[in-house]
Amino acid sequence: MTSSTNITFHSHDVVIVGAGGAGLMAALGTAKRGFSVACISKVFPTHSHTVAAQGGINAALGNHTEDDWRWHMYDTVRGSDWLGDQDAIEHMCRNAPRAIMELEKIGVPFSRDANGKLYQRIYGGQSTHFGKGELAYRAVAAADRTGHAILHSLYSQALKHRTQFFSEFFVLDLILDHDKAVCGVIAWNMAEGTLHSFRAQIVILATGGYSQVYRTNTSSSICTGDGNAMCLRAGLPLQDMEFVQFHPTGIHDAGFLITEAARAEGGYLLNNIGERFMQRYAPQYADLASRDVIARAMATEIAEGRGVGKHNDHLHLCIHHLPSATIHEKLPTVYETAQAFAGIDACQALIPVAPSAHYTMGGIPANHHCEVKTITTSGLETVPGLMAIGEAACLSVHGANRLGCNSLLDLIVFAESAADRIAAQLKPQTKLSALPASYSSPLFEQFDHIRTAKGTIQAAHLKKEMQQIMQKYAGVFRTEELLNKGAVALQTLTTALPDIAIGDQSLLWNNALLEVLELRNLLLQSQVTIHAALMRKESRGAHFRQDYPKRDDSNWLKHSLVWKDLRYANREVRQTPLSSDIASIPLEERCY
Ligand SMILES: Cc1cc2nc3c(=O)[nH]c(=O)nc-3n(C[C@H](O)[C@H](O)[C@H](O)COP(=O)(O)OP(=O)(O)OC[C@H]3O[C@@H](n4cnc5c(N)ncnc54)[C@H](O)[C@@H]3O)c2cc1C
Repeated sequence: MTSSTNITFHSHDVVIVGAGGAGLMAALGTAKRGFSVACISKVFPTHSHTVAAQGGINAALGNHTEDDWRWHMYDTVRGSDWLGDQDAIEHMCRNAPRAIMELEKIGVPFSRDANGKLYQRIYGGQSTHFGKGELAYRAVAAADRTGHAILHSLYSQALKHRTQFFSEFFVLDLILDHDKAVCGVIAWNMAEGTLHSFRAQIVILATGGYSQVYRTNTSSSICTGDGNAMCLRAGLPLQDMEFVQFHPTGIHDAGFLITEAARAEGGYLLNNIGERFMQRYAPQYADLASRDVIARAMATEIAEGRGVGKHNDHLHLCIHHLPSATIHEKLPTVYETAQAFAGIDACQALIPVAPSAHYTMGGIPANHHCEVKTITTSGLETVPGLMAIGEAACLSVHGANRLGCNSLLDLIVFAESAADRIAAQLKPQTKLSALPASYSSPLFEQFDHIRTAKGTIQAAHLKKEMQQIMQKYAGVFRTEELLNKGAVALQTLTTALPDIAIGDQSLLWNNALLEVLELRNLLLQSQVTIHAALMRKESRGAHFRQDYPKRDDSNWLKHSLVWKDLRYANREVRQTPLSSDIASIPLEERCY
């Protein structure tokens, strides 16, 4: 008898996979509009990764200095190295002030200035007057615990509007009908050891990013891109997977983030001769240049022997010149993180830092209504029944490089867009017919096959190897030779996956099984990432090819799409904004 013989069936208008900022905002938006909403999360909602977001959320409010959503849009297009879609970017930047007001109204305790206005800090790559003016004070924040404040407020509001939560349920796969429309998901309730099938009018994937493919990363261990992998298994492509952001200031060795807010408040980087080296690489913005620019500068300093420490393999972040009251009031998490993971008092000592994988720009291709897209023989098509939001989605507002504080904004604005689209197209409280068992039984059988694996290789061992391969062969600097080596090494690991050992075959809190399921998802995404990086023969944003060091707009101003079998295609970049309130932002050389 297989575990798939005892399944609980559920039916909802909207099934949201993920209860981070994106998932909760979509739950609130659709529940408020009268839809029955199931929000499924593999962890308790307020433990989702968004809780770790620190520095802030951008909006051109102009509370500190004059500002304009068009300048924000220009910065985002420039930050994206012109790979971002300008219709989606316009939608995000012009709706940012409204999103902040919405969050404020539901009780997010944002920090305020002496006049009682929302406090705004400067952040990397944010300027005024289309890059010609001063740095923009655009990031609204709740000290350096912005994600925590947003997530808790959203959770209580989603509960108030009767979202039904399914916490500690691991979603395994999408259910597709015979026409390849998405009609639900299957899930494993880890806490009770049961299996579930969710039927829905629409499924929204809000499963977050996949930075766990790298050995040194700033993300929590749950960031395994499960929704991305579900799409690959469902025969859908992922977009722009070669673009992985390395945050300049992960704590050396540990990876944990020291937020960019530390530099926004006046911190700076130093090499082993005590030089503020960023002034050489980015004369105008220095320590507040875009993250990819700083990460590459740091990697160069280290490679040229100016790193600090016994192995000259990291650099220093200095904040101890700031008044300790500023550190404790504006950067309490920075202080605590430096103490806990570097063992230092940041009011007195330099913080050891190195670039650390932080954010994944690529993901599930979607338009600014959050409808998932694929390419078929008839061209670009919408996948019926499926939407994607948050870090899992590639809309693409961040293009080749995301600017700090634009992710929280993306979650809020586009979760609201998804809710609007659903309200315009679907009827709330619709009774759905039961799905034929044949749609989901092969998926449950696959799950049983994994659960009962009797191989010899430990998942933890494979995961470590995968992370080391990605770190070594697909890091800040890439070449054809390195990427090819990485692709071969990953193929060997993938071949070993069926020989995995799972000692415990029960369904009740089986961590060994969970580890294997996440590893299966990570391995798929590593392969797709390396393949996309191999194919893109230029340098753009976070993707730097030493063998093709220049941006090549004639051949590569296009999105990449990669399928599970490594089939490769391209899609045009949408360079036309949504409205005539702003002209298309023309290509220019990206410099800070
Ligand atoms: C340390 C750190 C600090 C950051 N600070 C900022 C900042 O200041 N400003 C900013 O704009 N951005 C910041 N970012 C980026 C930002 O936090 C993330 O991009 C964003 O929070 C992602 O939100 P999300 O809702 O898409 O996903 P997440 O918050 O990662 O949530 C994913 C959800 O999906 C669920 N899930 C995943 N897989 C499954 C599955 N198989 N079954 C069921 N549920 C599943 C999880 O349980 C979770 O609920 C930061 C990132 C890091 C790493």
